[in-house]
Amino acid sequence: LISKLPNVGTTIFTVMSQLANDHKAINLGQGFPDFDPDIDLMTKVSQAMMESHNQYPPMAGVPELRNEISLKVKELYGRLYDPNQEVTVTSGATEALMASILAFVHEGDEVVVIEPCYDLYLPAIELAGGRPVVVAMQAPTEQVPRYSIDWQAVRDAITDRSKLLILNFPHNPTGINMQESDLDALEDIVQNTGIFLLGDEVYEHIVFDGQQHLSLATRPALSARSIVISSFGKTYNATGWKVGYCCAPAAMTAEIRKVHQFMVFTVNSPMQVGLANYMKNSRAHLALSSFYQQKRDRLVAGLAGTRFKPLQTQGSFFLLADYSAISDMPEADFARWMTTEHGVGVIPVSAFYQDAAADRSNHQLIRFCFAKRDDTLDTAIARLAKI
Ligand code: PMP
Ligand code: GLN
Repeated sequence: LISKLPNVGTTIFTVMSQLANDHKAINLGQGFPDFDPDIDLMTKVSQAMMESHNQYPPMAGVPELRNEISLKVKELYGRLYDPNQEVTVTSGATEALMASILAFVHEGDEVVVIEPCYDLYLPAIELAGGRPVVVAMQAPTEQVPRYSIDWQAVRDAITDRSKLLILNFPHNPTGINMQESDLDALEDIVQNTGIFLLGDEVYEHIVFDGQQHLSLATRPALSARSIVISSFGKTYNATGWKVGYCCAPAAMTAEIRKVHQFMVFTVNSPMQVGLANYMKNSRAHLALSSFYQQKRDRLVAGLAGTRFKPLQTQGSFFLLADYSAISDMPEADFARWMTTEHGVGVIPVSAFYQDAAADRSNHQLIRFCFAKRDDTLDTAIARLAKI
């Protein structure tokens, strides 16, 4: 058997969650809440099932849900996506990303990716026959203790063969967010090119310190060439439901749907109907930033009593921390050691790099997920203080 992905193993999230379970560790690794979605949302989903929404919904998604998505995006970002031709409900953001990459990237096309990056992008590009062109973020410094995007490096990476530029913000794993100046730079870079943009915006509703999420949909010059992707898993604390969506201009959406219809055909109906009914009245997404900011602050305050040194996080439910005061172990070894010996599961940041040699580089960082109950965070912090 000749593998199509010879360098790919089981995802780090699965591996580290399994290790945490095996060792009964507190799992601050894989990104998911340890609490339930809103009871009202769960009720609406169960009602939908009892009301016979149990057969195939339309291929592109339940019309009422596409309508609610369109209304929300218009309200927040000012761009009106036609629910019939420009919004598609997908099986999580994962499927939207894979379907988009498979639909757009031809054999030999270059795809620009900014690293560290979410682990799906590079294998998806490889499956499509594309060639990833990896641009490094600027490393954190004493003055600016967070990563940042080097726009000049992005500009230099774009050639006539570039088909797609993948952007993720708020960013997993670094927690950085885009400012207006970043979008200015992006607009300037892509004008007069044929490049498409893939905006992985699954953490769109989790931004801190009074910042706004500046979706690609906020800029007409960008949205005209963008696929904007989000996830109800993140927005409604329901990662196990695997429902997400993508918005893109009609001609682009038509191509994504050609893949979507043969990947999953459609997404389960009771959750779509329940989500649509919930979205009609809920403003829950608007409360998510302050909810998670309190958790970020709790973890950061707790880490002050440990030898971990947190970087700044501006959004998402992730925080990076430097452990160089504790150990010079490579990140993957350190993450395993924390899980098995100290009962706190985390993710090594090296897993977000193309080159496994990242683990021998100059950063010693692990990722914490703080989408956890306060008592979970407190118990974890007490364990971290002993390391
Ligand atoms: N993109 C990023 C950056 C993520 O962090 C995640 C998930 N955790 C996804 C995509 C996938 O989202 P979903 O669970 O909705 O498939
Ligand atoms: N996105 C989640 C994370 O970064 C995990 C999703 C997954 O397990 N595939 O932890």
